[in-house]
Amino acid sequence: MSSTEQSTAEALAVRAGLDAVRAVEPRIAQAITDELAAQRASLKLIASENYASPATLLAMGNWFSDKYAEGTVGRRFYAGCEQVDTVESIAAEHARALFGADHAYVQPHSGIDANLVAFWAVLAQRVEAPALRRAQARHVNDLGEADWAALRRELGDQRMLGMSLDAGGHLTHGFRPNISGKMFDQRSYGTDPETGLLDYAALRATAREFRPLILVGGYSAYPRRVDFAKLREIADEVGATLLVDMAHFAGLVAGKVLTGDFDPVPHAHIVTTTTHKSLRGPRGGMVLCGDELAEHVDRGCPMVLGGPLPHVMAAKAVALAEARTADFRDYAQRIVDNAVALADGLLRRGVRLVTGGTDNHIVLLDVSGHGLTGRQAEAALLEAGIVTNRNAIPQDPNGAWYTSGIRIGTPALTTRGLGTEEMDRIAGLITTVLTGTQPGTSKARYDLDPAVAATVAGDAAELLAPHPLYPGID
Ligand SMILES: *Cc1c(COP(=O)(O)O)cnc(C)c1O
Repeated sequence: MSSTEQSTAEALAVRAGLDAVRAVEPRIAQAITDELAAQRASLKLIASENYASPATLLAMGNWFSDKYAEGTVGRRFYAGCEQVDTVESIAAEHARALFGADHAYVQPHSGIDANLVAFWAVLAQRVEAPALRRAQARHVNDLGEADWAALRRELGDQRMLGMSLDAGGHLTHGFRPNISGKMFDQRSYGTDPETGLLDYAALRATAREFRPLILVGGYSAYPRRVDFAKLREIADEVGATLLVDMAHFAGLVAGKVLTGDFDPVPHAHIVTTTTHKSLRGPRGGMVLCGDELAEHVDRGCPMVLGGPLPHVMAAKAVALAEARTADFRDYAQRIVDNAVALADGLLRRGVRLVTGGTDNHIVLLDVSGHGLTGRQAEAALLEAGIVTNRNAIPQDPNGAWYTSGIRIGTPALTTRGLGTEEMDRIAGLITTVLTGTQPGTSKARYDLDPAVAATVAGDAAELLAPHPLYPGID
């Protein structure tokens, strides 16, 4: 099939699907159509979002959703899982080949779920298994009441060291509002206040003193590469398991932009990810690990996960197959080229950037120089048709709610086909909004001339016009 024939076929499939939905609940069909229109019209700079391919999306809309498949390939708690086994093994095979991992577990429903599976796999390997050996028991059900009570206390008394939230870490890396913070005694490492760069020496010192069971690497708002070889060295020095959460930058690893010391897979004991951010797959998660952790990871369902979503695993397999192509490698490189162009354009126009730039897909703006909070800047940009999200910056004086930062990322617009020249124009539009916005009477209020907002929104629409999203689908 030519690519035009293929998009026509995809368009027909989507239209048939929408017709079926409309016949049952027209408001849902309308919402789906409206969402496409909204996504088409927005200049999406949300660093964690993307646009999955029609093939990936269509792989989710089918009867695999009807199957229960607790367990793993070939070892299910339900009968009739042969086709689910096929789907899950193909997805895992692609994941292993793509990332060079010994083992891939493709069931997690999201990034948070992938982290939960990984935490409990490490606890099972390093706390539960030794306790069972000491008690000469094969299974937790064989432990006496006293041994079981002691094991439960020990499982709840472990330490985790992760990147601090305002340096760009994620809530699931041991912070109190998340279950990880309730499970683990947590400490954080951060960035150098002068440079904004990860402070490896301070991290090493904290690790030596704190001696965590798990050292967590990975971030959702740090605009630089991380040296995972160095993190592994530190983990080994203190006897920690290195867990890298590559939820945000998995696409850059898949696309071979992050290689060597910057590729977490060869260095970490265990790697978790989402599949829907820069990796451009369906909404979901995944765990990669070496052979020693594999059996524990595979117990994710039913230990912490509900029944797997076979339809989403099918879509993961499709997206992972796409990510193994030369086209995807080219895409990953363009994500970074675009981020660098955007950062350069902003710097040239006097916008302050945390760390002074980027070498991944994220650019973190410090809008305090414009007299704005992140909340004000986010709302003003949205009014001008530019979709971003506010984000805390290191030592943020406005806290995690109002913030002083705006996080932007290039995976979505790169999928749409925008390039470095357009990024420079976008930097101009962002600067126009930031300089044209006055702070209001509260940290949330602001004042932006509606004429400026309208002009920028018009320019943004013009930039998108030559790059239709899901062409052919109406
Ligand atoms: C997005 C993200 C997650 C959570 O992913 P969900 O799919 O929303 O659960 C976890 N860790 C990091 C580092 C992330 O960026």
